[in-house]
Amino acid sequence: MSKSPIIMWFRRDLRLSDHEALTAACAAGHPVIPVFIHDELTESMGAAPKMRLGLSVADLARSLGDKGSRLILRRGDALAVLRALIKNTGAGAVYWSRLYDPQSRARDTKLKAALKDDGVTAESFKGHVLFEPWMVETQTGGFYKVYTPMWKSVRDNDVSAALPAPASIPAPQSWPASDDIADWQMDAAMNRGADILRSHCTVGETAASHRLDAFIADNVANYVKNRDLPGVAGTSGLSENLTYGEISPRKCWHSGWQALNDGKADAETFLKELVWREFAYHLAYHTPRITTENWKEDWDSFPWNTDVRRVEVKAWKQGRTGIRFVDAAMREMYVTGTMHNRGRMIVASYLTKHLLCHWKIGLDWFADCLIDWDPCSNAMGWQWSAGSGPDATPYFRVFNPVTQLDKFDKDRAYVKRWIAECTKTPSATALSYYDMIPLHWGMASDDRYPDPIVPADIGRKRALDAYQNRGF
Ligand code: FAD
Repeated sequence: MSKSPIIMWFRRDLRLSDHEALTAACAAGHPVIPVFIHDELTESMGAAPKMRLGLSVADLARSLGDKGSRLILRRGDALAVLRALIKNTGAGAVYWSRLYDPQSRARDTKLKAALKDDGVTAESFKGHVLFEPWMVETQTGGFYKVYTPMWKSVRDNDVSAALPAPASIPAPQSWPASDDIADWQMDAAMNRGADILRSHCTVGETAASHRLDAFIADNVANYVKNRDLPGVAGTSGLSENLTYGEISPRKCWHSGWQALNDGKADAETFLKELVWREFAYHLAYHTPRITTENWKEDWDSFPWNTDVRRVEVKAWKQGRTGIRFVDAAMREMYVTGTMHNRGRMIVASYLTKHLLCHWKIGLDWFADCLIDWDPCSNAMGWQWSAGSGPDATPYFRVFNPVTQLDKFDKDRAYVKRWIAECTKTPSATALSYYDMIPLHWGMASDDRYPDPIVPADIGRKRALDAYQNRGF
């Protein structure tokens, strides 16, 4: 083949099937050079998501190898790396799947213009969402600020069928040099917790596909009842895979619809959850400030605590608030890199309302700990919980973490799974927390379980007083 190669730049689309950019590259009749770049955005990722990304990249490299192709790994500024590769290989085009968070968009816009100036074709494709943010409009031509009307407007939209993986990926005559992923040490910031966290990960395209199939076969029929119970494996767990693009939202959407058409009515709620994810990208695209600033500006004057060194922030991060639902959820996240959605709502409400701490403290800690970290869903979730976001929970809705536990963890399965101090015979998962946490936290499984740093009723009253004082 003497045609100029196409560089397929993988980012958060680490799969071969249902991949529009890869399919187009393979169909173009040119050699394809798959590339992953460890750039400044990767560099800035938190400990757990960076480690998890490394596992995903390694899995993609194996899948490409099975097809007779390769994944070229390079480190550095994305544009500089691509220019060097273009010079080195004679590539005439770069393809990628679009992203919607402000940082990725800023990088990609600049890079696209620069490549075009160089005379190189730069083409981006859909792949990370079902509905591009600019394709979904209110009746008056604006963007959606409330979820339910957006759900109603997209529910019955036509979504084209998922694409198969390319039968073959045309290889170049010679391959450019590649880094070795081991040298990147993407798990370095996990310190002693790396092996335990890894054991909780479900990595790669094949595993993600099995996970979806198992969820549809075993759990979707009871999703509505079970999805709120943190002690039960009632949700799909797919956020871990969707965030790195190991599975496409389109594949999840069609499986959900198939289940609904097969009479599993709860599948509609699963489809609705997928649209919450879409809503997060929709909001981040149209109002990028959601990832860094109060979406509702009238919250700018609210006197949230912003000091991360405060004792209650430390207790919250360490799962030592004395509020069992909060502590169980925080420990679950530290050990597994994920937290049940009900737990996320409870810990976010407790931090921002009972402890009156700024949502950005929570946003940053989640960004360090979550293997399903997503800049748009995380920001939407935190601002929803704090009350400062669009379509947010009203300021006066303060989750009571004690009654929530009685309602959603009646038999205390979740508490027992994560808190050793609450039982004479701690579970292996609760004990594994002590093998992960930094030694200087000074926690031991036979410590006395702390009294609440801020009891549920006192925190609620304090929060409501603070809101009323500010005229909310
Ligand atoms: P399922 O119940 O199986 O739902 C299916 C899919 O729908 C999920 O995989 C996810 O992609 C999507 N989804 C479900 N709920 C939401 C939601 N509320 N918002 C956006 N998408 C949703 N989700 C992330 O993917 N990354 C994050 O960084 C993140 N941070 C959050 C922070 C806070 C404070 C809160 C309240 C929520 C956050 N969420 C985040 C949303 C939600 O908690 C997770 O998506 C969900 O727990 C994932 O579990 P699952 O895959 O089993 O979900």
